[in-house]
Amino acid sequence: MRKITIVGAGQSGLQLGIGLVDNGYDVTIVSNRTADEIHAGKVMSSQCMFNTSLSHERDLGLDFWADDCPPVEGIGLTVPSPDGDIAFSWAAKLDAPAQSVDQRLKMPRWMTEFENRGGKIELVDAGINELEEYADSSDLVIVAAGKGEIARLFERDAERSQFDKPQRALSLTYVTGLQRQPDYSTVSFNLLPGIGEYFVFPALTTTGPCDIMVFEGVPGGPLDCWGAISSPEEHLANAQRLLREFVPWEAERATDVELTDPNGVLAGRFPPTIRKPVALLPSGNPVLGLADVVVLNDPITGQGSNNASKCAASYLASILEHGTATFDAAFMQEAFERYYAYAQYVATWTNALLLPPPPHVLELLGAAAQHPEIAQRFANGFDDPRDYFEWFMDPEKASAYLAQFA
Ligand SMILES: Cc1cc2nc3c(=O)[nH]c(=O)nc-3n(C[C@H](O)[C@H](O)[C@H](O)COP(=O)(O)OP(=O)(O)OC[C@H]3O[C@@H](n4cnc5c(N)ncnc54)[C@H](O)[C@@H]3O)c2cc1C
Repeated sequence: MRKITIVGAGQSGLQLGIGLVDNGYDVTIVSNRTADEIHAGKVMSSQCMFNTSLSHERDLGLDFWADDCPPVEGIGLTVPSPDGDIAFSWAAKLDAPAQSVDQRLKMPRWMTEFENRGGKIELVDAGINELEEYADSSDLVIVAAGKGEIARLFERDAERSQFDKPQRALSLTYVTGLQRQPDYSTVSFNLLPGIGEYFVFPALTTTGPCDIMVFEGVPGGPLDCWGAISSPEEHLANAQRLLREFVPWEAERATDVELTDPNGVLAGRFPPTIRKPVALLPSGNPVLGLADVVVLNDPITGQGSNNASKCAASYLASILEHGTATFDAAFMQEAFERYYAYAQYVATWTNALLLPPPPHVLELLGAAAQHPEIAQRFANGFDDPRDYFEWFMDPEKASAYLAQFA
C-alpha cells in the first residue's frame, strides 16, 4: 500500500487525505492542534465556498452541514459616491448557493471522519527533522500547513508573485442578530474606493447560524485600525464604529449584533504570495506544497478555501493517475502546474481587485446596476474566476461586452 504523509489538517490536507484513504492509500495527517483545540480556538477564516468547491466535498461525502448552514444565495455590490451617498447598488443570484461552515466546526468533524475511514492522525508541530523522517518512511510528503511557519521552506516565486507586502489589514467579526436581507441572502460586498472593502454574509459557527463581517483596509488608511484592540468587545465596538462612519447603510442592519463567542474575532495581514511547489530537504528529498502553502491569495475575493478544495481535488487526480510510479520532484512540479493552470487566473483577478479599479471595471460594475445579466455574470464568476478574463479583466473585451447592452 502506498504511504502518503500530509502535514496540516486544514481544508486542503483533510480533503486530500480523505480522498486518498478512500482510494486505498495509507495516509497519515500531521496536525499541530487537536480537534478540541481547533474547535475551542479562534476563528481562522470566513471560508465562503462556492458550488464547484462544495461539489468536491460532496463527491467525498463530506457535506455534513447542508441542512444547518444558512445558504449564501447571491452576491451584492454597493459602491458609494465621493459625497458618501450610494453611487450604485445591485445584487444577483448565484446559479447554486454558496456556503460558509466555520473551520472550527468543519475540521474537527473531518478529522474524526478521516480516522473513521482508516486514516491516521499524528499530533506534531512538524519541522524539518520531522519532514525528513516522513520523507524516509513515506512514498510522498505533502505540506498543507497554510500560513504556518513551515511554508517558508518553499521559496517565494518572485516572477509569479505580484506583491511582496500585505495589501490589506484584515478583520473578521462573527455575529448574531444581523438583520436579514429582504429578498435573498448575499455576500453583501461594499467597495470603498481608496479605503478598502467591507463584506458580510451568513454562515454556520460553533454556536449555530451567524453572520461574518469582514473588513479589508488599505494599509495606513482608516480601516487599518485593529492593532491596539485588546478585547473581543472592543473589536466588535470598533467594527460597529467603522460601519457607522464608512458604510452607514450596513450599520442599519447591524445595530443589535452580538459576538457569537469571544473567539469569533480575528485581525491580521499577510502578503499574497506564490511559492515554488517543491522544497528540497537537507537530505535532498523533495516535498510538495498544497493550497495556501503554494498559492496564497488575499481574502478580498474569498477564494482561499475554494482554491484549497480545488487544489486538493487536482492533486488527488494527479496522484491517482500516477499509479505506482515514483513521486519524484518532476511529478510534484507537474501536479502543481496542472492546478496552477487554473489558480493563476484566481490570483491575477484577486490581485487586480486589490489595486484601485480601472475605469473599465467601474463602468462594468455600474452597468450591472442597469443590466441584471452583467450582475449575474459577475456574481457567478466567483465560482470560476476564469470567466472574468473573457469580459472583465481586459478593457477591450470589456467594451466589446458592454457594446451588446448599448
Ligand atoms: C480573514 C480571512 C478571511 C477568509 N475568507 C475566506 C472566504 O470567505 N472564502 C475562502 O474561500 N477563503 C477564505 N479565506 C482563506 C482560507 O481560509 C484559506 O485559504 C484556507 O483555509 C486554506 O486552506 P489550507 O488547507 O491551505 O490551510 P489551512 O486551512 O490554514 O490549514 C493549515 C493547517 O495546518 C496546520 N499547521 C500549520 N503548520 C503546521 C505544522 N508545522 N505542523 C502541523 N500542522 C501545521 C494549521 O494549524 C492548520 O490547521 C480567508 C482567510 C482569511 C485570513
